[in-house]
Amino acid sequence: MNVSDWIPDIAKLEAHDDEEWLRVEREYAGRLYHYVARRVVDREARHDVVQETLLGAVRGIKSFDPTYTFEQYLFGICHNRTIDFLRRRRADTLQTEGEDDEPAPIERLAAETETPSRVVRAQEFSENARRLLALLLREWVQETWSEGEFVRLMVIEALFFGGWRNKDTWQRFGLNDETSVAGIKFRALVRIRELAQERPEATELFLALSRLTQAGEATFDFDVGQVWRASRASCPARVWLARALAGTLQAGPKSFVDFHLDEMRCEFCRANLEDLRTRTSDELEALHERARESTLRFLRSRGAN
Ligand SMILES: [Zn+2]
Repeated sequence: MNVSDWIPDIAKLEAHDDEEWLRVEREYAGRLYHYVARRVVDREARHDVVQETLLGAVRGIKSFDPTYTFEQYLFGICHNRTIDFLRRRRADTLQTEGEDDEPAPIERLAAETETPSRVVRAQEFSENARRLLALLLREWVQETWSEGEFVRLMVIEALFFGGWRNKDTWQRFGLNDETSVAGIKFRALVRIRELAQERPEATELFLALSRLTQAGEATFDFDVGQVWRASRASCPARVWLARALAGTLQAGPKSFVDFHLDEMRCEFCRANLEDLRTRTSDELEALHERARESTLRFLRSRGAN
């Protein structure tokens, strides 16, 4: 089982390096497949969408934004290709009518703003402030994780990732009352504001955080939640998912990873987990073969160097 968090060399990808792109295919096609499989019933079509995603990644690599991870870049493209496919298919279905395997409503999927390429412009935060906030949220998650404060981490994730209300949150985690949730949230925001203060380039963000933590919080929660989801601030590294699968996680990390997968139902991590679980299946062998061929064909047709 391959559990490495391999990250490609973007310069090589930009230079259309065959080896590097083939490695991308080997490392990522599986998790993309499982992401698509949650929306698309038809197996053949799943392979097509993965293929289109990888080709889209080759074509768009010049516009890769290093604020996000390469995996996020791929999932962003995959999300859009899946929507395109479902739209095309719905157009067909309306003409022929009467298929009963229609997946989740396209409108809902299209309205989701969790992938970087679909991030809408913030009301309160500039683009720059959002990028910094994404970094700080990840920093906060890592800090909280390394302190072993998994309940705190889950509470904040429930509020920002899950959009839970305080009263549902305190009950789920056996806290005293809603005030406990509000307290955890307040302390988290203060800490994130401190992290902003430590960075000279984050002055604008620091000021916005100060203003928003003092004034009301409706738009603030919305914005932070959006950045949290778009940046996948709390997604555990692949190695943690592999350990969860192998049953070797300790209680703290396990509680969080389970919560993230089962209650937050993070579809990126669920796709990763499925990939780890089924790495050697025939279905995936066929997928790899096709995706590999089409990627190579495309690279060669462009006279890759
Ligand atoms: Zn996740």
